[in-house]
Amino acid sequence: MSNKETEILDEKPIDFIRAKIKEDIANNKNEGRVHTRFPPEPNGYLHIGHSKSINLNFSLAKEFGGKCNLRFDDTNPSKEEVEYVDSIKRDIKWLGFDWADREYYASDYFDEIFEYAVILIKKGKAYVDSSSMEEIKTSRGMPTSPGVESPFRNRSVQENLDLFERMKNGEFKDGEHVLRAKIDMSSPNMNMRDPVLYRIKNESHHRTGDKWCIYPMYDMAHGQSDSIERITHSICTLEFENHRPLYDWLIKEIEIFPPQQIEFARLNISYTMMSKRKLLLLVQEGIVDGWDDPRMPTLSGMRRAGYTPEAINSFAEGVGVAKRNALVDVAKLEHSLRDHLNKITDRRMAVLNPLKVTITNYPGDQTEELEAINNPEDETAGIRKLPFCSELFIDRDDFMEDPPKKYFRLSPGNEVRLKYAYFIKCEEVLKNDSGEVIELKCTYDPETKSGTGTSTRKVKSTIHWVSARHAFDAEVRLYDRLFSVEDPASTKDGKDFRDVLNPNSLEILSACKLEPSLQEAKSEDKFQFERLGYFCVDSKYSSQGKPVFNRTVTLRDTWARINKK
Ligand code: ATP
Ligand code: MG
Repeated sequence: MSNKETEILDEKPIDFIRAKIKEDIANNKNEGRVHTRFPPEPNGYLHIGHSKSINLNFSLAKEFGGKCNLRFDDTNPSKEEVEYVDSIKRDIKWLGFDWADREYYASDYFDEIFEYAVILIKKGKAYVDSSSMEEIKTSRGMPTSPGVESPFRNRSVQENLDLFERMKNGEFKDGEHVLRAKIDMSSPNMNMRDPVLYRIKNESHHRTGDKWCIYPMYDMAHGQSDSIERITHSICTLEFENHRPLYDWLIKEIEIFPPQQIEFARLNISYTMMSKRKLLLLVQEGIVDGWDDPRMPTLSGMRRAGYTPEAINSFAEGVGVAKRNALVDVAKLEHSLRDHLNKITDRRMAVLNPLKVTITNYPGDQTEELEAINNPEDETAGIRKLPFCSELFIDRDDFMEDPPKKYFRLSPGNEVRLKYAYFIKCEEVLKNDSGEVIELKCTYDPETKSGTGTSTRKVKSTIHWVSARHAFDAEVRLYDRLFSVEDPASTKDGKDFRDVLNPNSLEILSACKLEPSLQEAKSEDKFQFERLGYFCVDSKYSSQGKPVFNRTVTLRDTWARINKK
């Protein structure tokens, strides 16, 4: 590596994974090669936790001039589907990472892995066990007491080879036999107590069809797949730490290329549940509107909600890599999101709960166009014209008939600024028969025109508005956190995650009034609705000229305030 490259690396904060890789490069291990992989099991959609692993593996490859493969760990035929494979590829691309032509499948290695098993049998390191799964489980013992050796443990190599071949040829039913490694039934590490390597499953696989009726266990396939791909650094999460001795044992006995496994802590986020198995239940039970429901922590859900890949990557990098599991505050993720959206989104006016305002001293037939800044954070975003006339809508929240002391928004006799327009003063409140406020009669002051007005008067509050004659009706969906507790995955007292759902995680407002320029917004376009938050055009329910908006996130962390109360 050149000096310049080393300098660039030195600027990055060094975590223990990068330190290890640097050390390996310095020792010329694997000729200084760095090759990582992201190995999803295609049994669900990717979630925000996976983005940590994706970002890490692809970034390491990039930083150290190496490569990162995408490998589907598709060893379990029953739970895997093509839909998941496609969604995983889409999501990784969306995050901005590229595996080039290195799209691999553990199922492509079934022949090699079978041969590895034969090698182990021939060396007397694996045997066919005809005990039932239940017997195997109980004979394993407890971590504190040794297991019991299987009565089939000392079958001859010949008999094992013959049985294993017949297992492969489909002569047996599910569960009749398994192949086990012959290691040590008294090992303190349960994974070393003759783990099962192969099982019979008379099932079709989404890629290999009916070719196989025996399938390698994850522990038999994972390390071997890494080895076949000559992965130098096999990064995984902590729960595989005590599988490492087994992986190392297998690699040594089969005598193949040894990847270095390095474990780091899983990313866990408060108010978020990441197990694919449980997320699948949310989908199957109709608790959410599919894997891409904007409340889901899946990348497709977050994309639909309006998250940007930049926000997710900057969050993933910001949390760093740790050796101990911890719960990261979801506010951190939302902070990254607001930070990015603040820079890139145009501001727009949207009235979610409309209240009619008539300006009695503005000519009834007149319309004027006022200038509004698209994005104060980005000069290149320019300006747009907002139509203004005598009939407007403001948000109901911005008016109170009997305001408390520190309420500075509109109230009878009080004056506020309409953003990019004029000061208005509330002169009269109209109600329907049931006493509900239905309209406000106001006057405006022409001297207070935004930008050019001569008035030096000040008001304490600025509110947003739209022209009633020009705004269009739209549906806006206010999404909020799906769960109401910090750690929905570990509930107590016989409750599960279904018992801790946030009942207000979705509010659909069907009669919102939006400024005209929003009408042609396209799927996934993102905006800041002035004073309300960030919103994006829903990719599922919108159609040409009829956008439906999803709230991505509020402008401030409203939960922090609730929790302090
Ligand atoms: P889950 O338990 O959520 O279903 P998983 O680990 O079974 O996830 P895989 O498809 O096996 O899902 O994961 C692919 C890769 O992503 C693995 O290397 C795994 O370690 C990593 N990964 C999964 N969840 C997280 C997480 N929360 N934080 C960091 N990495 C993760
Ligand atoms: Mg897994």
